[in-house]
Amino acid sequence: MRANGESFNSTSDPGMSQTEEFRSTTRAWLEENCPTGARGPGQIPWGSSKIELQPDVRLWLERMAERGWTVPTWPRQYGGAELTRDEYTVLIEELKRMNARTPLTGRGVNYIGPTILELGNDDQKARWLPGIARGEGGWAMGYSEPDAGSDLASLSTRAELRGDHYLLNGRKTWTSDAMDCDYIFVLVRTDPDKPKHEGISLVLVDLSQPGVQIRPIRLLSGASPFNETLFEDAVARADDVIGGVNNGWTVGKRLLQFERSTHAGINISGSQGGRVIEGHMPETIKRYVPTIKGRVADPLLRARLIRYEQNGHAQRLTQKRVIEELEARAPGYASSAVKLTGALHTQEGDEMLLAAMGTRGIGWQGEGFERDETEATRTWLRQKSLTIAGGTKEVQLNIIAKRVLGLPD
Ligand SMILES: Cc1cc2nc3c(=O)[nH]c(=O)nc-3n(C[C@H](O)[C@H](O)[C@H](O)COP(=O)(O)OP(=O)(O)OC[C@H]3O[C@@H](n4cnc5c(N)ncnc54)[C@H](O)[C@@H]3O)c2cc1C
Repeated sequence: MRANGESFNSTSDPGMSQTEEFRSTTRAWLEENCPTGARGPGQIPWGSSKIELQPDVRLWLERMAERGWTVPTWPRQYGGAELTRDEYTVLIEELKRMNARTPLTGRGVNYIGPTILELGNDDQKARWLPGIARGEGGWAMGYSEPDAGSDLASLSTRAELRGDHYLLNGRKTWTSDAMDCDYIFVLVRTDPDKPKHEGISLVLVDLSQPGVQIRPIRLLSGASPFNETLFEDAVARADDVIGGVNNGWTVGKRLLQFERSTHAGINISGSQGGRVIEGHMPETIKRYVPTIKGRVADPLLRARLIRYEQNGHAQRLTQKRVIEELEARAPGYASSAVKLTGALHTQEGDEMLLAAMGTRGIGWQGEGFERDETEATRTWLRQKSLTIAGGTKEVQLNIIAKRVLGLPD
């Protein structure tokens, strides 16, 4: 399939495979259209109408959206380019090669978008997907509640049908970024009389309405990425329940697989290409510890570093293999395994680096510490959350034991 109806055959070189030809056309287009300000580290939009975009970043988003490459594998009618898996892989490789930033990320293109595409009806797809593909609106995730975290099915936020709309009442917690979001997808209880997994629905809600209150949760660091989101007679359209009323457990679990696959770098919905596990650890470690002939002198640390590098390589190969085997935009239960091994690998890297840095690895701010040293401390702490967010380590192990290995309860 071809991006925006382009025919590669028209310019086709008989000596070139279709993939090579796609690569060369893609490379040329990206070189011409990716503005300088969208290359290297910097701002990446996730659709929030409340965050101003730098001009080059906006231009990059608009150009990529126009071409269908913010959601390259989606159907064209919903804003995608219908790229095959191989073409998608080439596109991501070419974006990385030129150090171009992903034009659009977030829960829109990565979580709720592919869920609507897979489980929504035609009307929902037509109403929501083109806007999501263009980055028109940031999305929050309303799953967790004060008494429903890992045991998500215990959620108690109620949605009562009133004609053509629902009235929502309840409290969600840990809603990341909600202050800057425009919409939220919420798991609600639509039938309290049914067994707990059977009376749940997933519904889309506009955050800018009087019935929704968002309260930041302040962290020790002083930052407030988390919020409590309160619904007091908040309104949601009845036709914004995705995947059927009281079918929210199935829909919500599939969305979690998209979330975990995004963390794991194996969701091929958006143009993010997954989290890249960087390969600079040996050089970074060697800045802090004695070396002999260019090798880390301490044999225990050297062995730990080698194991870390091997695991990183295995993780990258696994990501590649899972993507090659995909039959949808993200895998099912494999998302739990790859998310977990990726998170553990990242955390091991953080721990090892801090151990090698010694006292230089405990700085938070102030004189005497380099910026990348305080950053390492902050990253080490922040990335502790990787084995909590999107389902804890123990929950992933339970899923793998039960659903992948078929072990008894
Ligand atoms: C960075 C970050 C971002 C987040 N963003 C969002 C968001 O945007 N929206 C949202 O809805 N939520 C969000 N969350 C919340 C997240 O989904 C929950 O924290 C997570 O599901 C765990 O729930 P809990 O915190 O209530 O812990 P609990 O469920 O109370 O778990 C406490 C401990 O008990 C263990 N445990 C619980 N049940 C079992 C079991 N059956 N077997 C073995 N061990 C078990 C857990 O593994 C954990 O170690 C975010 C969390 C983090 C850290």
